[in-house]
Amino acid sequence: MAETSRPTLKGRITSCELVKREQLTDDLVKFWIKPAQEFKFKPGQYCTIGVDGIERPYSISSSPDEEFIELFIEIVPVEHGGHLTPLLDHQEVGAQMTLRPRAKGIFVLQPQFKHHIFVGTVTGVVPYISMLRKFLSDPSWPEPADGVARDDYTFHVLEGASYHDEFGYDVELTDLANKHDFISFYPSVSRPDEERNANWTGARGRINTLVEDYVADLGVVPAETCVYACGHPQMIEDVGQRFESTDYTFVEERFWKEDE
Ligand SMILES: Cc1cc2nc3c(=O)[nH]c(=O)nc-3n(C[C@H](O)[C@H](O)[C@H](O)COP(=O)(O)OP(=O)(O)OC[C@H]3O[C@@H](n4cnc5c(N)ncnc54)[C@H](O)[C@@H]3O)c2cc1C
Repeated sequence: MAETSRPTLKGRITSCELVKREQLTDDLVKFWIKPAQEFKFKPGQYCTIGVDGIERPYSISSSPDEEFIELFIEIVPVEHGGHLTPLLDHQEVGAQMTLRPRAKGIFVLQPQFKHHIFVGTVTGVVPYISMLRKFLSDPSWPEPADGVARDDYTFHVLEGASYHDEFGYDVELTDLANKHDFISFYPSVSRPDEERNANWTGARGRINTLVEDYVADLGVVPAETCVYACGHPQMIEDVGQRFESTDYTFVEERFWKEDE
């Protein structure tokens, strides 16, 4: 394990129970946690969980209306510098973890825009899942914004991964895109020639290199469109640069820093 001594946690702490886990690949796992006390959050926000005094933030993929908080976590091995995730990897159903009582984060839906371009890498899709689930389950959300009717909204999820089995929510997103003409899902693998992607027939290439063409093809008014980017810092950096001198609005959530 990465740590032998337990850091002392300061400030208010509550707990949560791991009620379900689903292993997607060797290093990708979904957790469903049950907070010991009421836990409020806005779609797109994150919670902070901990084991043995080591805490990290995780964006929430469930809607605030769901019973449990759903997380999608990439395990960073100890040899690659991982601290909490190697411990999370060993948590079984019934395990108790710490939970900070308040959700945080400002990477939330921007309701003043009609068109929402959700760009993410692997676990970076998480905040968008929460936003979409909430939008579809709660007709009163989001609160109306000036000049934008609920019927005006379109959502486009562009997700990049090395391998097709890393998308995490591809079944749900494909289903939503099939059911709703205002939702689209565009997954792309960056290593299409590797054996693990042998049956992949979808888009190929890093998602950041495909965003501009995808958005141009939509034919949306840039001033009415918000481009969100979440996950890998290099992807975010690149997408930000591609849209910085345009009338599109760009917002981001970095899961880690490049120099870490
Ligand atoms: C607002 C916010 C939301 C986040 N949401 C999620 C989420 O939904 N799912 C999730 O898996 N992680 C998420 N993270 C990252 C998470 O907080 C941890 O940093 C990550 O799980 C690794 O934790 P660790 O303690 O094992 O390693 P750390 O001690 O945090 O980091 C060790 C090293 O791994 C690098 N690193 C961190 N994450 C990754 C990664 N995914 N891939 C490759 N290298 C990485 C770090 O830069 C560092 O060099 C989020 C981070 C932030 C700031």
